[in-house]
Amino acid sequence: MSILRKRASLYLLFASLIILSLAIVRPDRLFTRWRERESLISRATVPKILIIGLDGATWRVIDPLLEQGKLPNLKLLMEKGCFAKLKTFSPCLSPVIWTSIATGKLPEKHGIWGFKEAPESTEPGIPTSDKRKAKAFWNILNEYGKSAGIINWWVTWPAEKINGFIVSDIMQYYPRMERALKKEISTKYDVYPEGLADRLKPLIHRPDEIRMEEVQRFMRLSRDEAKKYLAKLGPKINSIFFEFVNAYQLDKSMSEIGLYLLENHPTDLLAIYFGGIDVVSHIYWHFMEPSYFKKYKISRDEIEKFGWVIRNYYIWMDEIVGRFLSRVKKDTSIIILSDHGFGPTGTLPWSGGHSKTHPGAPVAPDGILIMSGKNINQGAIIKEPRVIDIAPTILALMEIPVAQDMNGRVLIEALTPEFINEHPLSYVSSFEDRKEVEPIKTREETLPAKEELLEKFKSLGYIQ
Ligand SMILES: [Zn+2]
Repeated sequence: MSILRKRASLYLLFASLIILSLAIVRPDRLFTRWRERESLISRATVPKILIIGLDGATWRVIDPLLEQGKLPNLKLLMEKGCFAKLKTFSPCLSPVIWTSIATGKLPEKHGIWGFKEAPESTEPGIPTSDKRKAKAFWNILNEYGKSAGIINWWVTWPAEKINGFIVSDIMQYYPRMERALKKEISTKYDVYPEGLADRLKPLIHRPDEIRMEEVQRFMRLSRDEAKKYLAKLGPKINSIFFEFVNAYQLDKSMSEIGLYLLENHPTDLLAIYFGGIDVVSHIYWHFMEPSYFKKYKISRDEIEKFGWVIRNYYIWMDEIVGRFLSRVKKDTSIIILSDHGFGPTGTLPWSGGHSKTHPGAPVAPDGILIMSGKNINQGAIIKEPRVIDIAPTILALMEIPVAQDMNGRVLIEALTPEFINEHPLSYVSSFEDRKEVEPIKTREETLPAKEELLEKFKSLGYIQ
């Protein structure tokens, strides 16, 4: 009994001490501190740089749409910033070029050759992040204490352990997702940090969840026709339609994931990649420019129905860009770019193309570059920018030195003179001799993902 009483009096003593200390702290001070914390949080939610990658976007499609006032968000960015054709190179394959964009280096230095292990190799190979031999801008940002969020960027699987997050480019690949749901395969390396994946899964839209109105936004189909198409939805039947639906649902999911992470997982830089323009350009081009496909009988009815799929996709992407812009306001530097342009091939089934893989296509046609927002020089003429110039320019904008062993240069003319005066460019010889990026252990359990990547590349026509 006496022990209990002793305890009770001890508790009483503690309680009164706590009340006393609360009374000493000035409530107005507490409030100021809370306010400071609040403002720190809201400042952190604005990334310094927002990068939006639109695979395969070309001025050839954009220019007429701008004239018709159909791309208001891109137009605004262009008016307030600067823009140019973005030079690319051969082999003009998305994994190669997006890795050059990320590293500032050509494939000889970064080691990603597309769908084979080496330029002279004839065997198909899967480009994975553990094969990249050069540091990406997100690794370099981390070395300088800045965080990065990377979403759906080519060759980011397996997801590296970085300060920030990586939603790898296989996260939402459709057949894989089905198998993951049945627990047939592990998705351990799809997202870093691993725990993030569960919060992102509800934002993923499956191909069969597409609504009729969504289809009708892109194709001029009656309700009955749209219904018929949806009833036959599948990769084997009407593959062109399925590829469109898959690409659209994927981009829709990624845009929702991007907006969610922008708000709930702030990073100093956010880079998000959308692949749908590339997909629809490969398979719907003959409906948009039928004059290049005279040897095929493309009916007026088909042109009516599908002639605007590609252009409607750009219009939809412009809306997505707008959604991101409305969240970042004016404290962010914005970079919108593509890895290459597109042109008609004159042959089916790949009616649009950009490399030798699709015979008849222009090889390595120019992509697009739009820079706007904070520290960007309005109305500047950017001199022949190349895909390899993007990483050095990102580093300069983040006030980080640029490596001399990068193939690209800082697009200094695109930055305001005030910014350059305050933050003169600085250089280091290389980042590659520094502490290694934490190596990713590619275990047995990740192997099925490679098979699925192979399937994905086959369905895009990159691997025969
Ligand atoms: Zn591409």
